[in-house]
Amino acid sequence: DPACAEPLAVLGRDVTVPLVTGGEVTYAALDYAASAPALQRVWDDVAAYAPYYGSVHRGAGYLSQLSTDLFEQSRATVAEFLDCRPGDQVVFTRSTTDSLNLLAAVLPADCEVFVFETEHHASLLPWTNAQVSYLNAPRTPGEAVATLERALADRTASIEEGHGPALVCVTGASNVTGELWPVKELAAAAHAHGARIVLDAAQLAPHHPVSVRDLDVDWVAFSGHKLYAPFGSGVLAGRADWLQEAEPYLAGGGASRKVSRREDGGVDVEWHTTAARHEAGSPNVIGVYSIASACRALTEAGFDSLVAREQHLVAKVREGLAEVPAVRVLSLFGDDAPRVGVISFVVDGWNSSHFAAALSAEYGIGVRDGLFCAHPLVRTLLGSEPQAQGECGAPEAAPGERSLNAIRVSFGAGTPDEHVERFVRAVK
Ligand code: PMP
Repeated sequence: DPACAEPLAVLGRDVTVPLVTGGEVTYAALDYAASAPALQRVWDDVAAYAPYYGSVHRGAGYLSQLSTDLFEQSRATVAEFLDCRPGDQVVFTRSTTDSLNLLAAVLPADCEVFVFETEHHASLLPWTNAQVSYLNAPRTPGEAVATLERALADRTASIEEGHGPALVCVTGASNVTGELWPVKELAAAAHAHGARIVLDAAQLAPHHPVSVRDLDVDWVAFSGHKLYAPFGSGVLAGRADWLQEAEPYLAGGGASRKVSRREDGGVDVEWHTTAARHEAGSPNVIGVYSIASACRALTEAGFDSLVAREQHLVAKVREGLAEVPAVRVLSLFGDDAPRVGVISFVVDGWNSSHFAAALSAEYGIGVRDGLFCAHPLVRTLLGSEPQAQGECGAPEAAPGERSLNAIRVSFGAGTPDEHVERFVRAVK
């Protein structure tokens, strides 16, 4: 019974916050989609490692060698967590945004990119070096596949002599609706038309097992801070060829194997052909080690029980919100579509920013309001033009006017039932 399963221990679960109504209450962190609290286990692993902290790939001393070993073992742990294929590379980055910008920087010449307009800006915007086709928001998973197939078929037909490289970028789970996208089917469609596919797993990986091999995606990107590790580290994993044929994303020490002066006065550089090619500079050892620790902890807890428990919480929130007539839950694929623990909604007669502020001030509940760095999607869902004040900010609507932004509640492996129960009570 998932209701009986214990949430995983996370940092911050005993933090109390003051209420405007007087007194204080333990903080209910229900904004996992922005950043999840770190697992206690990750914290403990980092604390155990900290005395052995040393430079990576740069020192002859014992602690440097130990740190280098842990760093490279972390790479292997992530490859295993993602069920990578032999020959795939795991590049450590700063975040999902950084990972997708890295991939954008190594696209072959004349690469076309296909991306749904519903993507997070991290997936929508990095492709400035390519010709980009923005695909309209689908209203069913089947329509998503059909839309992609049509776009790729048109491309194939329009190119008489063979066709250049193409990349599809798609999310695994929406950061706005939490809905699952048909990644395996989209990958099959991409490959059938000679295109490659990168999976934005920022919201999928914390909630579901991700198998690069089974989904048959060419690359996957995710962030440590959404996967119960601290901020500052991310992953791009997948096929080596485009990564190794391109110039390094960051040039500098660590990426270069050999550097020599030429007779004409210039400099010749031989770059690494491993993941190190794109990891110049001293790496974020703690961040990388934290990601590996989180991967181990989630694998040990078992995704079957994590998913079951999270779906138990999703059902509680859905049922609770359904009892409030003024609440409209946002979805592309329909109210009953499978989703991870990410649910956005608007409340008739309420400005979403005020509503979210009240949840915090009166109930100690941390949610998010705004446009969630996915303006075109939120516009489609709300049927309005978002008037952003700042990239991910919260536009103002006069009290009683239709919402121009939404409220998002999101949770996961560390969430106790009491937090979502308090949330539902507060909304009611
Ligand atoms: N993709 C999705 C689906 C996301 O939800 C986010 C973060 N909100 C990102 C990409 C970007 O992640 P980061 O901010 O860690 O780079």
